[in-house]
Amino acid sequence: MPDKLIVQKYGGTSVADIDRIRSVARRCLETQLAGNDVAVVVSAMAGETNRLLALTHELHGEVNDREVDVVVATGEQVSVGLLALAIRALGGQAQSFLGHQVKIVTDDSHARARIRSIDPEPLRACFREGKIAVIAGFQGVDEAGNITTLGRGGSDTTGVAIAAALHADVCEIYTDVDGVFTADPRVVPEARQIERISYEAMLELASVGAKVLQIRSVEMGMKYGVPIHVRSSFHHQSGTWVVPEEQAMEHVLVSGIAAVRDESKITVRAVPDIPGVAAKLLSPLADAGIVIDIIVQNVSRDGSTDMSFTLPRQDRERAIAILRDQAGELCPDDRLAWSDGVAKISVVGVGMRSHAGVARRMFQLLSDEGINILMISTSEIKISCVILEKYAELALRVLHEGFDLHLPPEDRASP
Ligand code: ADP
Ligand code: ASP
Ligand code: MG
Repeated sequence: MPDKLIVQKYGGTSVADIDRIRSVARRCLETQLAGNDVAVVVSAMAGETNRLLALTHELHGEVNDREVDVVVATGEQVSVGLLALAIRALGGQAQSFLGHQVKIVTDDSHARARIRSIDPEPLRACFREGKIAVIAGFQGVDEAGNITTLGRGGSDTTGVAIAAALHADVCEIYTDVDGVFTADPRVVPEARQIERISYEAMLELASVGAKVLQIRSVEMGMKYGVPIHVRSSFHHQSGTWVVPEEQAMEHVLVSGIAAVRDESKITVRAVPDIPGVAAKLLSPLADAGIVIDIIVQNVSRDGSTDMSFTLPRQDRERAIAILRDQAGELCPDDRLAWSDGVAKISVVGVGMRSHAGVARRMFQLLSDEGINILMISTSEIKISCVILEKYAELALRVLHEGFDLHLPPEDRASP
């Protein structure tokens, strides 16, 4: 009987060229030789998904489309084939699987499909034959057999979903940084690696812009209790464990900070302050698959109010067209305004549940730098501020230092 069942997921930079694919193959074989069954999920080679998307974009403006998924899913097909060949070239045995060959069945929302079920049997058969199973990340099929993709970063979700379906001991996410940090280490060089973080805090960090894990992969890990180990594919040191809160030993006030750039803000002025107006404005956007983030409605004045909301910059033009077309009477041109170039900065920590003062400190730190807050939104363990995008990097650094995130957790001041 094998020792353990280990799922490893390798991101685009980890399989960027043949040398790196060889080194991934070596690592998979080492893991198998140590006595484990191994399933490996791979992303497309670095830059490939962007290249494929750009090709489709020359012919068709939207991503939410059957044929666009047919094109972008091919990146992962190349990687699984190459990795299986590389494992074989080193004397091991491997078999590649595309989404439909493991029956990764999803709903039919192209470009953002959700996994409904996976058939682990073909993978178990592969292990029985002593082979490493190499599975294409990011892709699935809907009930009708159409190819779907899971959204950017979706191979993380494939990895955790495969781990859940196989009841694996761990899902290792191999990437180009050493683990999850208190902020994106490429933007804040002083960021510290986090040893253990709860699913809840990681979910919140991922949802406010820490793209090291796709949000749905964390959701899935939490739902099925899959321990996730985020680590570097370039060395063997341990990375960050994402685990249930009671195992996270995370008595920190703030776990980390993150930013979402390339956002836009739309404001509709003087809409009637009566029931149904928000639904009338926002439903057509939801129907078009546009995800609205922070929504702020002002206090009513003379029976009318202003409403502002943020959305991805890439959706702003389409959103304005839809508003004009489907809610034109509520937003004539002289009452419809927008600005591109805003960003959302968030501070996340489960410690906020029991400590007041984090919001006050965040506002003070931003104000000390002369950074104006355009919108605010909070949840139990998160505070987000919308600011001008040109200040995003400065805000991240100032907040990172202001919350002492460069220090070990035990040396940080409380608010
Ligand atoms: P992969 O191709 O391996 O899936 P991604 O580019 O999707 O890698 O995710 C890894 C990147 O996430 C890192 O290179 C880093 O810049 C970024 N990142 C953002 N926030 C964080 C964070 N808090 N901790 C670690 N990495 C982060
Ligand atoms: N290749 C896909 C992307 O670039 C999926 C992934 O890398 O996780 O988004
Ligand atoms: Mg990724």
